[in-house]
Amino acid sequence: MEEDLIKKTAQAIRRSKKVVALTGAGISVESGIPDFRGPSGLWEKFDPMEYATIDAFIANPQKVWAMLKEMGSLVERAEPNPAHIALAQLEKMGLLSSIVTQNIDNLHQAAGSKRVIEFHGNSSKLLCLSCGRLVDQKEIVLESLPPRCSCSGVLKPDVVFFGEAIPWKAHLEAKEEAGSCELMLVVGTSAVVAPACDLPLIAKRAGATIVEVNLEETQLTQYITHWILKGSASILLQALVKEIMSAGRG
Ligand code: NAD
Repeated sequence: MEEDLIKKTAQAIRRSKKVVALTGAGISVESGIPDFRGPSGLWEKFDPMEYATIDAFIANPQKVWAMLKEMGSLVERAEPNPAHIALAQLEKMGLLSSIVTQNIDNLHQAAGSKRVIEFHGNSSKLLCLSCGRLVDQKEIVLESLPPRCSCSGVLKPDVVFFGEAIPWKAHLEAKEEAGSCELMLVVGTSAVVAPACDLPLIAKRAGATIVEVNLEETQLTQYITHWILKGSASILLQALVKEIMSAGRG
């Protein structure tokens, strides 16, 4: 069954003029970074309302930084897994136009993907909330929390917290990619965070085929998705690339 769907997806990708991937935290789970809503997700341990909103950060940056430090050390150690690599291969083969990612972990770029639209920012930079300076995370020693800028302002990772706007350029580009693709691969996202979860709808309204890759069904599965490849993103995406390559040789 899954094999048939992989074949069907491979064929659909080869036939599409433009393919875009939307990725979420699930694609990085096999790299050792827990997702938010999975069984061993971060939110089992940290209540999002207490840790992931901009109001919570401003009210108590020290507390939120304790969680960020824990996640940051996982991100720092993480390497791209076969799912990130498979998407980079698809791009190299000329079969993937771009990746819109909700992740902030840089793993798509580390895998070799060139066109990555970071919808929620990137944790490798810190933004000073007082003077607006962007500081490289590597320049900062996380000893006393929160880390501070040379102007003494509080530094915040340059990522989108709940309650913050999506970076304008990334939002525009993502909508453009969604509205102009013929097939969208939606990988490892529970699709509950807006406005990222609207992108498959934009794509579908413009006539695209929506293919999910996820361990489980999501709110997209019933109404938006054409078909779902159920299982591990690294196994399924690797199998997909293999299928595309072998069909290309045949
Ligand atoms: P989520 O945690 O809400 O959902 C993850 C989804 O991935 C789930 O549907 C789960 O079933 C699926 N999944 C888990 N492991 C998988 C695997 N091995 N293969 C295939 N599917 C798998 O994640 P989200 O929808 O991206 O929303 C979370 C938000 O938190 C995002 O906005 C993201 O910015 C942020 N976040 C980022 C990271 C990261 O950068 N790696 C990690 C945690 C959270």
